[in-house]
Amino acid sequence: MVTVETPRKEASALRRLGALPATALFRRKEHDAAPARPATGIACTMRGCANLTAQLCAYRDRRERSCSVTICPAHAISLGANTYCRRHAGTVQAIGELSGDPSGHPDIDDRAPSLVDWIGRDLDKDIRTLLARAARPGESVISDHVARRAHDFHRNARWERSWRLVEHTGPVLNVTLHVAEDNDSLVHVRVGCEAVAGGVPPWIARRRDGQDVEAAIDISQRQLFYRYLEETISEAVVRFRDRSDSIEQ
Ligand SMILES: [Zn+2]
Ligand SMILES: [Zn+2]
Repeated sequence: MVTVETPRKEASALRRLGALPATALFRRKEHDAAPARPATGIACTMRGCANLTAQLCAYRDRRERSCSVTICPAHAISLGANTYCRRHAGTVQAIGELSGDPSGHPDIDDRAPSLVDWIGRDLDKDIRTLLARAARPGESVISDHVARRAHDFHRNARWERSWRLVEHTGPVLNVTLHVAEDNDSLVHVRVGCEAVAGGVPPWIARRRDGQDVEAAIDISQRQLFYRYLEETISEAVVRFRDRSDSIEQ
């Protein structure tokens, strides 16, 4: 368990990973039940941790580059048979079954899949609810559970998660979050063919600028950011339905 001076973002990463259902493919390591690890003599890179039981993060990207972070068993996260640093645990979790294919592993420094997955999880319930509310008889809502790699019209790679309103003849409306690999801090939202929102999440902007804020400010900034995304998506879905109504009339 994490005890000392855990940075907030790490604590919330733990919360996120710990919140997985018991049936999930990936499980948080049960440290209490695990036998004590012998000292490796390698220091843990987690701030405030004095353990000399660290090992290298197991992450390797599709170009066979490996992560250089050393992390002790108390701060590592085990997914399947491997143990990762927090950041790459987020990457592996984000790509789901693709993690079984080494050639599909995102680049070592690519934060796009984990950011899309993170925001997608936080918005998932709201987007499914608003699409269900907008659904006509015979339409239903389906959604991605992991981030997928895709390309835009210029062949630039990006990671995305989408929610779809479908009927038996095919898709009616897509809501898609995406983050480009070449700008992995900027989140874009599309509703149908309309680009409706884009922004750098406040916690990423602060990390980029080297700022730190009190927990209460962090929480209110996150809430504002999510409210902005939710309201923008909701308004775009309503606009889409208004347009399709006027076409049908
Ligand atoms: Zn440690
Ligand atoms: Zn790593």
